Amino acid sequence: TMARTMHAPSLPDRTIDAYTDVTGPDRLERLGSLADTLADDRILHINSTATGGGVAELLRSIVPLCNDLEIDTDWLVMDADDDFFEVTKAMHNALQGNSLPLTEAMKAIYRAVNEENAIELEDEDAYDLVVIHDPQPLGMLEHFEETMPEAAIVWRCHIDLTDPAPEYLAFVSEYTARVDHAIFSRSSYVGETAVPETSIIYPSIDPVTEKNRSLDAEAVADVSDRLDPLSFEDPLVTQISRFDPWKDQFGTLEAYRRASEDVSDLQLALVGGMAGDDPEGLELYEQVAEEATADPNVHVLTDLPDTGVNVLQRESDVVVQKSLREGFGLVVSEALWKRTPVVGSNVGGIPLQIVDGETGYLVDPDDAIGAGERVVDLLEDDGRRAKFGENAREHVRKQFLLPRQLVELLDVLADELD
Ligand code: UDP
Repeated sequence: TMARTMHAPSLPDRTIDAYTDVTGPDRLERLGSLADTLADDRILHINSTATGGGVAELLRSIVPLCNDLEIDTDWLVMDADDDFFEVTKAMHNALQGNSLPLTEAMKAIYRAVNEENAIELEDEDAYDLVVIHDPQPLGMLEHFEETMPEAAIVWRCHIDLTDPAPEYLAFVSEYTARVDHAIFSRSSYVGETAVPETSIIYPSIDPVTEKNRSLDAEAVADVSDRLDPLSFEDPLVTQISRFDPWKDQFGTLEAYRRASEDVSDLQLALVGGMAGDDPEGLELYEQVAEEATADPNVHVLTDLPDTGVNVLQRESDVVVQKSLREGFGLVVSEALWKRTPVVGSNVGGIPLQIVDGETGYLVDPDDAIGAGERVVDLLEDDGRRAKFGENAREHVRKQFLLPRQLVELLDVLADELD
């Protein structure tokens, strides 16, 4: 077998003190006492990409914050190639409801790359607990049973398992049956998955990052200049998503065209990137860009830095999230936190975040025209947008900020280590 060495992404500094403004003292105290409970444990998170997508976004905050709390926490990213990621992307798509073949060759690639990654960990000091994120690294469990038999294993599933393809669910369940505990983002995802014990934890956004912190007018003006000819003076609708069929950028384009019939000078920004573990992205990006070229008011933007994402979420009049499936959809809370109402599909984690008629509007995932009409309702009513924006900020403050998620996660880990 090949040697594959997982790598530890470089991490920003985080201190728990930075959260005192957004979190009550009770929760901070609770974090302190959980940290005491976990003080002698070594914890490892494993996922399959250091950049792009919500999981990397979450780990980039959770891992340094745990270390600031003096919980010894590592994050390692699998070493894999496109052959593996094509298999795991098929797995991801099938678990979210697409029916796709699962061949013996695909299973062999999945097992081999997982084994190659797991073997390299043998030299590591023993971990007391390993958190496996999503299905990609699950295959390592077979080896961990030999190399770290004492370690507790938690599977953190971030995807929408409402309607998984049975063949894939059966394959994944061979592994999930071995974990000690599984965490899902919604109770409806647990379904038929073979797991001994489950918790539901809603994800969260980190309010102190460059992506989510408040910005001064100068920073906004600077990004505005760079995005020219896009203009914050004219009405603007934005969707920010990886180029992925589940994000339905074509549906967003249709909603925009419908809204343009009623709102003159309307602009659409479709912002996207490619995640390291997602080989489909480029092709879809090219299709979306091609479809957008005919309309000078549609801006397809890639590789925007976090400040740019922040400014767009802040300055857009309405954010759209037209997903067909969505594990949670951090982008929704990111926009709501910046007081921008969101029109989104009623799927996955989106209805947890959009309170219909209060923080935005929910639409049927098939109904791009309806989404366009809801965008118009918001664009034509400044007062409603402002009111929804205030509601949105409060909704996220109460439910979707990092300290709340961290307490719930550490609670599960402490239980498993008990
Ligand atoms: N993101 C980004 N730039 C992009 C596209 C996405 O920074 O061009 C970020 C986005 O702000 C969010 C994360 O990637 O933090 C996407 O997480 P989400 O849960 O919305 O979806 P996922 O990609 O995990 O399906």
